[in-house]
Amino acid sequence: MNRQLQKEYLSAMGIRQWVARESPAGLDEVAPMVPSAVPAGHAAQPEENPVASLDWAALQQRVENCTLCPLHKTRTRTVFGTGNRNADWLIIGEAPGRDEDREGEPFVGRAGKLLTEMLFAAGYQRKDVYIANILKCRPPNNRDPSPEEVACCHAYLERQIALIQPVLILAVGRIAAHNLLHSDLQVGRLRGRVHRYGERQIPLIVTYHPAYLLRSPLEKRKVWDDLQLAQVVYREYRAGITANN
Ligand code: URA
Repeated sequence: MNRQLQKEYLSAMGIRQWVARESPAGLDEVAPMVPSAVPAGHAAQPEENPVASLDWAALQQRVENCTLCPLHKTRTRTVFGTGNRNADWLIIGEAPGRDEDREGEPFVGRAGKLLTEMLFAAGYQRKDVYIANILKCRPPNNRDPSPEEVACCHAYLERQIALIQPVLILAVGRIAAHNLLHSDLQVGRLRGRVHRYGERQIPLIVTYHPAYLLRSPLEKRKVWDDLQLAQVVYREYRAGITANN
């Protein structure tokens, strides 16, 4: 990306100075493997997971018609996910809010605008990455998703991950981080290191949710650090591929 444009985006995000680091702290602090995010009692065995073999079109239709949890009664639209279905970067947020419920697309409200700016500062447009949420339907009054709702929706996200085969997952916010990592540590303690997700051990990086950044703009600097960590992990992967070819 054009450096000047990048600077403008960083400044729009409230980050005044960008000091490139050669080696972000914590890169080699790799967490042990975490199991796939299926709550006990909801193990997604192939025979129990009727979406495991669906293609994109069938999966999207299944989500649109989903009535597995009570959120279907209050939703306006399901929010399936958006972006490049062959993306290397998968961004996972929490759940649709009011704007997303109305438009059927993730991260389109104020927080979404900030997410778009964050990604742009890291060199990506929305169409370059894939953006999804833990839940496909809006919880009323934007309350936290319940464990039952997460369990009902889990197979959809899991199938999206299997179809995309991302190189890197960026978990934005507490709800995404907790559910993907089966952890209840604060985001501040989960960020700054590389976790692994699922059987494929996909590198997973945790960062703050843009809605939180709107309330706490001073934390934007840390998100920039997290994005730089993600870039280093991603570049290492690309370099590994090149070296092996
Ligand atoms: N917050 C999220 O986590 N996801 C959205 O799609 C919108 C807001």
